[in-house]
Amino acid sequence: MRKGWLFVIFLRLCLQSLFADDFPDATVTRQVFLMGTRCQITAQAPSRDAALAATEAALRALEQAEGRLSTWRQDTELARVNAAPLQLPIALSPRLCSELQEALFWSRHTGGAFDPTVGWLVGAYDLRGKGRFPSPAELAAARSRTGYRHLRLSGCTLTKEAPVVLEEGGFGKGAALAAALEAAAPLATALQLDLGGQLAWSGGEQLVGLRHPEDPARVVALWRLPAGSVATSGNGERGLWVERTRLSHILDPRTGKPAPDFGTVSVWAPDPLTADCLSTALFVLGPEAGARFLRRVPRVQAVFFCKAGDRFGVLATPVARKHLELLDPGFFWMQERRQKAAEGGTKRWEGGTKP
Ligand code: ADP
Ligand code: MG
Repeated sequence: MRKGWLFVIFLRLCLQSLFADDFPDATVTRQVFLMGTRCQITAQAPSRDAALAATEAALRALEQAEGRLSTWRQDTELARVNAAPLQLPIALSPRLCSELQEALFWSRHTGGAFDPTVGWLVGAYDLRGKGRFPSPAELAAARSRTGYRHLRLSGCTLTKEAPVVLEEGGFGKGAALAAALEAAAPLATALQLDLGGQLAWSGGEQLVGLRHPEDPARVVALWRLPAGSVATSGNGERGLWVERTRLSHILDPRTGKPAPDFGTVSVWAPDPLTADCLSTALFVLGPEAGARFLRRVPRVQAVFFCKAGDRFGVLATPVARKHLELLDPGFFWMQERRQKAAEGGTKRWEGGTKP
């Protein structure tokens, strides 16, 4: 009898190892409301408990990011930085320090198209409320208090040299996703996160659906991508209407004006924080200056959907073009000439995307 049981166990182990790839991982999916938006976390792992533990680790990291970066609350580290007096050296936590280092790196390299010090401008346009157009005097006042150059970050000590207000809207979701991947990816075979439309995943390739800029219910293209993150910037769901005029929620900090609305840009980067900063930056730069800028950032891919009458022209970085399938007849590849202009040149930044 005992021998019989041993044989059954032995046979089971043999079969399990022979067909290991056919035994699917357990999958756990959770949905929560975080950072003012919907978040979905899916983890695959060899057991249900392991998958659950991975989602738990991701959730904790996301909650900590909200507790560090939200400026909708007064008790977070970033809100305390905003409340701190001018010229006072502020010691940052290691995490906020590396997040601001990366955000400010992209501010410098995009010539201020991406700038996390847009707090006064966001206030002047009431982008967190119903939206409004500020008077020239209000705009001038907000502009004088805007600019990453007013921040001095020496090691992890930050000093404000003007009363700027940091705003996490352009980098907070990416920073939170980066922290969640770091905490949970080692615990899972594969992890997929969706934080308010920005996707981040580990564990191999994904097919990402890109949505119509004006009708987010429609997937108009499929993009095959390696592990990393995709962020999209545009006004589809986020733009406001003020006195029958469309107000973009993305501002050009160099002029203080709303960035011209050409459609959407989707950016893939290995790191979610980079993808988030660069989607906002590329929206501000627009398709042509944006594509020129991308020639210097070899590890990042991008796809622009540009409104052309009632259709959309598609402009993509060379690798993205190879892996993007257009599904909708209303979307067409932009002229070769324009694509070539975007692809020309080879000047690169050494050392990839990190500061
Ligand atoms: P989403 O929040 O939909 O992911 P983005 O990542 O493009 O969109 O971020 C837009 C938000 O970032 C705005 O709502 C605002 O809070 C802030 N923001 C607007 N313009 C800029 C800018 N030029 N640089 C940095 N942040 C910006
Ligand atoms: Mg974003």
